[in-house]
Amino acid sequence: MLLITGASRGIGAATARLAAGRGWDLALNYQRDAAAAEALAAEVRSLGRRAITVQADVADEGQVVRMFECIDAELGSFGSLGGLVNNAGVVDQPERVEAMSAERVQRMFAVNVFGSFTCAREAVRRMSTRHGGSGGAIVNLSSSAVRSGGAGQYVDYAAAKGAIDVFTLGLSKEVAGEGIRVNAVRPGITDTEIHASGGQPGRAWQMAPQLPLQRPARAEEIAEAILWLLSDAASYTTGALLDVSGGR
Ligand code: NAP
Repeated sequence: MLLITGASRGIGAATARLAAGRGWDLALNYQRDAAAAEALAAEVRSLGRRAITVQADVADEGQVVRMFECIDAELGSFGSLGGLVNNAGVVDQPERVEAMSAERVQRMFAVNVFGSFTCAREAVRRMSTRHGGSGGAIVNLSSSAVRSGGAGQYVDYAAAKGAIDVFTLGLSKEVAGEGIRVNAVRPGITDTEIHASGGQPGRAWQMAPQLPLQRPARAEEIAEAILWLLSDAASYTTGALLDVSGGR
């Protein structure tokens, strides 16, 4: 079974659709939109795969622990967790660093970094051969903002994704001998609702002229890279930070 956090829309939902088509059973995490998660689960089941929805705010350790227990209960004795996509992530309104509240920066790191950290911890406890598991793969969602730095927009977000890159490198080495590969995908500007949630609904297409490929990515194009990293085709790839950014 594959757990995708933040699966109710955007890159997470696209990853779920692609994963179901490639034979994964799915645990679909969402924070607020139960109806969207349920509709996606129904789509996955129509493709002949198992799917459960699990509500949890990934920034809340207790909720993450309960989410994994819920997945354990669903799997029972006839399955195991084989993959995790740490996809849940947030941006905020464009602001310069000197205007940022501590509360904003804490939320940015709580969701984007600590959430991924806690979910990976719980996944490693289940997948590592050191703990009797059968191995697996973790894919973290970083961002091309790591290379731009997000100046004038969201340096906090870029810094949080920078932490994800280092987390990916370190964890990959820690569990490489225990059957777990850990990689990150660094999407460029992708056409999802995340831009509206940061107060810039038209951002993805407004930026198109500045992008080498002259358009933002579709969520499915990011999902393809995630699915490859999860698959056996990427069996010798771990600790990689894969740019899927249209040449930017
Ligand atoms: P999106 O459309 O805004 O979707 C984000 C998903 O994460 C939603 O399902 C949201 O659910 C969920 N989520 C947010 N906070 C959560 C929390 N605390 N706990 C659990 N779920 C939570 O975003 P996206 O564009 O698909 O982005 C997915 C990932 O790719 C993020 O990590 C993002 O940073 C990264 N990324 C995106 C782009 C881009 O241009 N779109 C570029 C680079 C990297 P709720 O609404 O219910 O909270």
